[in-house]
Amino acid sequence: MAEAGTIGGSSPANSAWRDDRKMATLLPPRKLPADSRYAELINSRQKTLGSLDLAAQVRLPTGCSEEEWLAFNTVDLFNELNLLAGAVSDICTEQTCATMSAGSYAWQWADGDKVKTPQQLSAPKYTEKLLVWVESQLADETFLPVQPGQPFPPNFKKGIKVIYKRLFRIYAHVFHNHFKAMAECDADAHLNHSFKHFVYFVKEFDLVEDSELEPMAELINLLMRKRAQEAHQQGVPETG
Ligand SMILES: [Zn+2]
Repeated sequence: MAEAGTIGGSSPANSAWRDDRKMATLLPPRKLPADSRYAELINSRQKTLGSLDLAAQVRLPTGCSEEEWLAFNTVDLFNELNLLAGAVSDICTEQTCATMSAGSYAWQWADGDKVKTPQQLSAPKYTEKLLVWVESQLADETFLPVQPGQPFPPNFKKGIKVIYKRLFRIYAHVFHNHFKAMAECDADAHLNHSFKHFVYFVKEFDLVEDSELEPMAELINLLMRKRAQEAHQQGVPETG
């Protein structure tokens, strides 16, 4: 097998990781239909890709409804975590990670619907159940409407918040247990960038309680301080 050009070399960490892992998402990536109510957002993202800083990228675009913006970005962030789960699938196993934990924090699986009694699962099983559950939420058009004019349900933001609270745990587990291994294959820059995007989005729309973010509080505080400094330097009023 040719090794040249896979890791290191001139590729930024981001693309090295993506090439190396062959976009191996755990579940099939989720796509919003290009001819749906999200067509304009899909289009404008393609145009601005990479040209905006993260703080600007997460901000609600003028004229866009908050619900559509949350829906659109949640599909993206689901795919991002789906990719991360695929990337760690050979280092996060039943043997290495018997519990879904992050430092002194640990979670048992319950979706509050089909599984009401919390189940003790390994990290890979927990992650898979979690992603399958999120996927089922995103695929439910009564929760996340795709057709123009179809209303969002009254519990939409509440449901979105549960999704973010749970998705966060994948980052928390990977940072606490697999950061070193990710750094060894040059994936740490991508992981940091991906988490920063997630945190900015969560903070912009107040999606997760601070108490839930506790396992990553130190890094989150650092990221938010940096964001405030950058906003100050650019003269942008701070939001959130
Ligand atoms: Zn693990």
